[in-house]
Amino acid sequence: MRYFNNLVLGLFLSVLLLSSCAGEPEPVEVETGPEFVFLVHGGAGVFNPDNLPDGREEEYLDAVNKALDIGRDILAGGGTALDAVEKAIVFLEDNPIFNAGKGAVFTADGTNELDASIMDGISLNAGAVGGVKTVKNPITAARKVMEVSPHVLLVGSGAEQFSASQGYEIVDPGYFYTAERFDVLQRVQQREAGEQRTIQDKTGTVGAVARDKHGNLAAGTSTGGMTNKRFGRIGDSPIIGAGTYADNSGVAVSCTGHGEYFIRHAIAYDLNALYKYREISLDSAASFLIHKKLPNAGGTGGLIAVDTSGNYSMPFNTNGMIRGVVTSEHRESAVYRE
Ligand code: ASP
Repeated sequence: MRYFNNLVLGLFLSVLLLSSCAGEPEPVEVETGPEFVFLVHGGAGVFNPDNLPDGREEEYLDAVNKALDIGRDILAGGGTALDAVEKAIVFLEDNPIFNAGKGAVFTADGTNELDASIMDGISLNAGAVGGVKTVKNPITAARKVMEVSPHVLLVGSGAEQFSASQGYEIVDPGYFYTAERFDVLQRVQQREAGEQRTIQDKTGTVGAVARDKHGNLAAGTSTGGMTNKRFGRIGDSPIIGAGTYADNSGVAVSCTGHGEYFIRHAIAYDLNALYKYREISLDSAASFLIHKKLPNAGGTGGLIAVDTSGNYSMPFNTNGMIRGVVTSEHRESAVYRE
């Protein structure tokens, strides 16, 4: 979409450094990209202005901008990409208008089962939790899985026990209930009576990617999954390489959309591989996946991604994707196509 070399005129400065050994001036190219870049999404989906509750678009944008502020303050202060990603996602998980943490969609059984993952581009360390029902902030539990356990993905009651053992806030499953999401389940179940299907009806999965002042990348994603899901279904969000990936020699990416397609096509890792091995621009690689590969397979959704130079991309093939970006030089947020 946008590259810092399109945003900033004169982005390469030629400076002369004097070599103390040879005494000869040597021209050195110094890149002048943004000091930091931070992106968030609040889900891609089929919503349109007619079926959003009054004022909801403004609420989405307000929340996105507050999440951007959280990331910006951390990054501008020299904080890490990982902290920016985690803290912004915690904020979005606590906001019931998103399908993550409080406000998560309902399973066919009328419960909420949450998935989240986080990845550190420096070390390729990653952590994830799947199908948790009592962990207030799954992204924080995912980070703890990454940092203090030898594992990458913990699911169900084991993930809940691990979170409790780390002193994380455990809540009654009723904490995640919202009348709005429960109504969606009931509508979907009436519509689909006799033909149980998972529906990407009301989206709102959240994610963040960051490139900090030290040049490090991180990515995270958190979701309640898809309305009416059954049998312990887990989507792409907690699957490293499908919904989330971060690699300092490639990109940081967080996906949203119909998870089964993102898993089958390993979209997050495929973006990293295309960018890294084919040496094409981040935007070309992201557009190919979201506008060609995924729709050709029948998949809908979008992603946010950033590379170490500060290039970023936010493509989606749905009606809208709640999204925003802030850099040391620029800020924008939107729900629909511009
Ligand atoms: N990708 C999520 C899932 O399939 C849902 C979403 O992003 O809307 O669980």
